[in-house]
Amino acid sequence: MKTPFIDKLVKENEFIRRAYNVAKKAHENQKRKSGEPYFNHVLAAGEFIAEWGLDQTSIAAALLHDVVEDTGYPLEKIEAEFGKEVAFIVDGVTKLGKIKYRGIERQVENLRKMILALSQDIRVIIVKLADRLHNMRTLSAVPPQKQKRIALETMEIYSPLAYRLGMQRISGELEDLAFPYIYPKEYRWLIDNTKEKYEEREKYINKVKPIVISALEKAGIEVLAVDSRAKRYSSLYKKLLRYDMNIEKIYDLVALRIIVKNVEDCYAALGVIHNLWPPLPNRIKDYIALPKPNGYRSIHTTVFCLDDKITEIQIRTQEMHEESETGIAAHWLYEQTKGSKSYNEKRSVSADKKELGWVQQLRNWQKELSNPEEFLESLKIDFFRDRIFAITPKGEVIDLPSGATPIDFAYQIHTEIGDSCTGARVNGKIVPLDYALRSGDIVEIINQKNKKPSESWLGFVKTSTARGRIRSALKSKEIRLTKKEPTEVELKITVEDRVGLLKDITLIISRSHVNITSVNTITNAKFPILKIRSDVTNKNKIEKLILKLKKLKEVKEISYQLT
Ligand code: MN
Repeated sequence: MKTPFIDKLVKENEFIRRAYNVAKKAHENQKRKSGEPYFNHVLAAGEFIAEWGLDQTSIAAALLHDVVEDTGYPLEKIEAEFGKEVAFIVDGVTKLGKIKYRGIERQVENLRKMILALSQDIRVIIVKLADRLHNMRTLSAVPPQKQKRIALETMEIYSPLAYRLGMQRISGELEDLAFPYIYPKEYRWLIDNTKEKYEEREKYINKVKPIVISALEKAGIEVLAVDSRAKRYSSLYKKLLRYDMNIEKIYDLVALRIIVKNVEDCYAALGVIHNLWPPLPNRIKDYIALPKPNGYRSIHTTVFCLDDKITEIQIRTQEMHEESETGIAAHWLYEQTKGSKSYNEKRSVSADKKELGWVQQLRNWQKELSNPEEFLESLKIDFFRDRIFAITPKGEVIDLPSGATPIDFAYQIHTEIGDSCTGARVNGKIVPLDYALRSGDIVEIINQKNKKPSESWLGFVKTSTARGRIRSALKSKEIRLTKKEPTEVELKITVEDRVGLLKDITLIISRSHVNITSVNTITNAKFPILKIRSDVTNKNKIEKLILKLKKLKEVKEISYQLT
């Protein structure tokens, strides 16, 4: 793979050059499954990020994204050498790598929430997408079992994520790369049945092109580019499923794309096209006036074109075009060229502002894909601000309230795992059981057979699940211990002392036919406390006795306990 963007930056930019050299040295002697040097992978990720127009922080993070996980290079060292932001992105990408989707439907939602929770910096996701794109392009070298899992995860998680970020080209490529691994037979069928059709349409579009260009120029519209866009196999397959696999019904197998200078020219071009060929009714889509939820802008129309062949035509500006290709990344580029500040400062500053809007996009994505109950639930928890997402060593995501501890985590997995918990490791390190977990933490629970929960846990757990289960486990323990009947009562009498008071009290007790077994006096409080034990266990009798004792004006307070 050629890396012109990185090659240029390594020459010109000291920061990126350092990251390049650290990564190169760290991955020295490491090989990928394909046999090629491991460094080629991170280099490719860096190249994508540079090509998509992101800032130097992201490019350095892309180059360094695997050094912590795969070479043991300390994260602290990255922070010291490249700053907090680079370290945060590298750490985030490493954590995202720990989350694995294995086709279990109920996990999809948690995975998406998790990614949201980690996306405090959207650049984490973009670097992860660059990593995934290169891994997908080189997936054939990986063992078949793994291929399928990674392809599925790409199809279900990363491609829709890229789409939501407006990175349509990357989203489409990821889906197309995953498609043959998930649907090998269907893929074969498509290749066999559409190859000629594609070629035929391509030739046809090439005949249409010069007619369009000259008509637009005659109308005084400056044409920046006219090209053809072949429909991707994966989306063609989805569409075919809806059209009884009848390829004749797919009009946008190959579409014509016109790029002009500004929005006015887009509408003017639409007029020129409709003047040439009549449009199909109800097929004009104005995504400029009403952009798609992911920000996509363009005008689409379908016309009875040359020789009455039905053809889709898309019209947009250069800016819209670039945005549709690289989505959010394109914004970095535009903000950059608008301002006059230096490459480094300007980019990272503008990134922050744009980020907010895109995080909003992510939330919309969340909304759109949830079922109604889940949507309501997500509203209640204020869009996960109060949630954290921790991971089991097997990569399952556990959704918890913020401040949740390893005990909450353990009970969320299984009652028994909670009950018999004796310790926890977070990211490989032993932590106290009241440790506050953070999103992305990998939590391993240490268990001991027959161990019972401790009452002290109730003081720090955050989930009602954990609290309820600890209580019920403690209750069953208590019942076992207190099976025997109480045999004594202890009266606790707070008094204002005077000479002869104790004598008066014991007299009242013995007159009530109650035997005293012991008397203790505690005098270090403001008022002395008498602790009198007796062998009476009849509650009625005790209550009557207390009433009699309370008649003494020196008695301030009485409580009792059966033991
Ligand atoms: Mn990687």
